[in-house]
Amino acid sequence: MPVTYEPVIGLEIHAQLLTKTKLFCSCAAEVGAEPNQNVCPVCLALPGALPVLNAEALRLAVRAALALGLTIAPESVFARKNYFYPDLPKGYQISQFDRPYSSSGHLEYELSGEVKRAGITRIHMEEDAGKNVHGVGNDSAVDLNRAGTPLIEIVGEPDLRSSAEAVAYMKALREILVATGVNDGNLEEGSFRCDANVSVRPKGETKFGTRVELKNINSFRFVQKAIDVEIARQIALLEDGLAVVQETRGYDAEGNRTYSLRSKEEAHDYRYFPDPDLPPVTIPSELIEEERARLPELPRATRKRWIEEGIAESAAQTLTQHPGLVRFVEDARKHAPQLGLKKIANFVQTEILRGAVFHGLEARFSVTPAQTASLLSLVEKGTISGKQAKEVFALLENTDEDPAQIVEEQGLSVVSDGGALEALLKDLIVKNPKQAQGLRDGKKQLAGFFVGQVMKETSGKADPKLVSELLEKLIAEV
Ligand code: ADP
Ligand code: MG
Ligand code: ZN
Repeated sequence: MPVTYEPVIGLEIHAQLLTKTKLFCSCAAEVGAEPNQNVCPVCLALPGALPVLNAEALRLAVRAALALGLTIAPESVFARKNYFYPDLPKGYQISQFDRPYSSSGHLEYELSGEVKRAGITRIHMEEDAGKNVHGVGNDSAVDLNRAGTPLIEIVGEPDLRSSAEAVAYMKALREILVATGVNDGNLEEGSFRCDANVSVRPKGETKFGTRVELKNINSFRFVQKAIDVEIARQIALLEDGLAVVQETRGYDAEGNRTYSLRSKEEAHDYRYFPDPDLPPVTIPSELIEEERARLPELPRATRKRWIEEGIAESAAQTLTQHPGLVRFVEDARKHAPQLGLKKIANFVQTEILRGAVFHGLEARFSVTPAQTASLLSLVEKGTISGKQAKEVFALLENTDEDPAQIVEEQGLSVVSDGGALEALLKDLIVKNPKQAQGLRDGKKQLAGFFVGQVMKETSGKADPKLVSELLEKLIAEV
């Protein structure tokens, strides 16, 4: 009988903390600056410069750990991870090793409607390295703007069993970090990076196979493909009676294959030791409680609540993609609670999302939640039709106008208020007794006269069908 193999996957995610400044100095932690502009003696590793921990980075790191249910260590230690590489000016990276600030949590994620759970071993803080830039003239150069940028590394347990699970796990993790304001979730720019550890074993085997680490793959699609081809490569090796070699591999998207970067023999001996320049990190329980109190509702919980309120699952998914969008919907709802969530969610999804711009944690909309609430309230009251709401919306975008004002200026409102139309019709009947009598005597074409008069009085805003119905009733009564 042929052996069937089971993949085993564990992810290590690096997420940049959204601080203004770097982890141990006051240089700006921004992307897109001119090369080597955001540098100082600390992050350039000039002799005698001393690091000081960024309090905001610690706060965000604590928040991330709490959101993922990890236990926070009251005391943790920064260690030096020693290796040589051009983008690492100190010759070591400040990281955490045997005493990370948090450990033992888990992540719940959904895949094909099923809720799954994977362990998180630990989260630790560390600084990022700089960047080697190739093709500067005929040379390579180093940009140290990123050196010292604060990261958390989220080390996952080897609990994932397919590439689809790995991607679903990554997406769930990303949305939590974004919702809590810890990270901007940008895979392309590298502020959210994934290393995937992959092994296979015969199904039923309890011991893990030899693992390969796939480095820095910068899209969800490529993570999925890289894991799949790596699983296939390892299975083919085992089928041929060969062994998987423990190594670090890269992914070549064009050839859809993984290739060796370095083998275990070349693996680094990092010679970790506690950084003598940094005291142990103590995390006061007050800070932990403050951050716990600040945790927002997480996207899965928002979706569940919204779906219970009648929102379609796909809409709930779309509208919880960004925390700014969730805030927009909830804000609009607060301005007009009588509307109900569904109407707001529907209008946001079909109209407002088109003109929305998201960048990192920022979200910009062409209208405010208050304007949206007023506009939809006008539809609710029957002042304008749903179709007219779209016209008003187009005029409202990027202005600070009041929708009711626009409706008035544009003369857009439908007079669908039966009471007002009745009064108008009664008046017309009384003022035009000859035509009224003619109509009563069976001259049907005279109905057109009254409807026409109403349309004239209301500048065409009345609903002619409603006017005809009212006329038929009133002509007999008056
Ligand atoms: P290292 O310190 O070399 O990175 P760790 O033991 O800390 O190694 O593991 C790092 C990652 O590798 C974790 O995310 C873990 O889940 C994953 N991992 C460990 N062993 C395996 C394995 N046999 N197959 C797949 N993933 C594994
Ligand atoms: Mg590793
Ligand atoms: Zn600096």
